[in-house]
Amino acid sequence: MKKISLPAMLLVIITFAVFSCKSNNNAGGYNIVIKGGHVIDPKNNIDGPMDIAVKDGKIALVAESIDTTGALQVVDATGMYVTPGLIDMHAHVNQRGAGPNPIPADGFTFRVGVTTVVDAGCTGFRTFPEFKKQVIDISQTRVLAFLNIVGEGLRGGPFEQNIKDMMVEPAVECAKQYPDIIVGFKLAHFVGHDWTPILRATEAGRICNKPFMVDLGSATPPLPLDSLFLHYLNPGDIYTHCYGGGGSGRESIVDLNTGQLRPFMPDARKRGIYFSVGHGGGSFFYPTAIPATKAGFYPDVIDTDLNASSMNGAMKNILICMDKLQALGMDFKSVISSVTWNPAQIIKHPELGHLSAGSEADIAILSVRTGKFGLVDGRGEKIETDKKLECQMTVRAGRIVYDLNGIANPLVLPR
Ligand SMILES: [Zn+2]
Repeated sequence: MKKISLPAMLLVIITFAVFSCKSNNNAGGYNIVIKGGHVIDPKNNIDGPMDIAVKDGKIALVAESIDTTGALQVVDATGMYVTPGLIDMHAHVNQRGAGPNPIPADGFTFRVGVTTVVDAGCTGFRTFPEFKKQVIDISQTRVLAFLNIVGEGLRGGPFEQNIKDMMVEPAVECAKQYPDIIVGFKLAHFVGHDWTPILRATEAGRICNKPFMVDLGSATPPLPLDSLFLHYLNPGDIYTHCYGGGGSGRESIVDLNTGQLRPFMPDARKRGIYFSVGHGGGSFFYPTAIPATKAGFYPDVIDTDLNASSMNGAMKNILICMDKLQALGMDFKSVISSVTWNPAQIIKHPELGHLSAGSEADIAILSVRTGKFGLVDGRGEKIETDKKLECQMTVRAGRIVYDLNGIANPLVLPR
């Protein structure tokens, strides 16, 4: 056997050490490096200054200082927050079909840092395949869906009142056919003092081990919320429009006469029921939200109920919904969690909502404007805040899809 001389061996060791060192910070290999931002990644318990490197559509590295040598794009995020791409768990994006004023996702997501939307029941088992073909498959935004327990989905009027069309078996079959896209079931707008629609939807959820999101509709007299939370819903189910209600047809989570949070609410939460804002045009009211948050009852998820009507009304966009909850005392890290890691877990997509190395690179870069701003609720009541979130950049699957002020340097094309 040929002997290797000592100097030759040393050379091999040194060369290996140099290359190992280089591959550790992977200089030259990244597509995007985001420098100098304040990273908030609740799943990984990161809340501080960090750099992020993206390669081949994935998060490659999150570290205190990353070498940008050879990176195709470098983003200066100094003075900004860098978070996982936001998840809007309640939106209506079936713009080619049924739904309450649905809009095209890509037009209204990236500009506010959202990379994933969950369509909240625009379609049922009969209309979902068309929705998938015409919208989900061609959107750059990741579109997931709660399947309406009504076969026709949110077609309005008598369609949504037709209990005969609320069929468990075909809904379950449809959810099983698209297990990665359909995250659960939805019921909305049902008018009547009747638990049957809720029983059907919870049964579908139980069979598939997926959550059911309820928009309680209205009834005379209203269906009692304590029965809904403590008896009818399953742990893991979602009550959306949590700061709404209080009219003649639906109870509020707050006793509006005394301003007290209803006594069963802590038990509802303990039982595993989730509460989402689902702001919408008329489902977020300060007479409920202020006393509820004063009692420490913050939402698990901040979502929008995005549609062509709510986005031009009091809701506007997810960042303004986040501003509202922050103005009502929710701490910023919890606000970020409620649009990233919390919804990812509730919809059972744990691969989303964080910045772990190897995960798909969905990232939002947010700045904070200071000044005097008004935040309006569904009835036009207003509170004021001195800060407002603004989306500076959105990265979806490793590609910059929105850059408000051109904070990425020009793309360096490989020679
Ligand atoms: Zn909705």
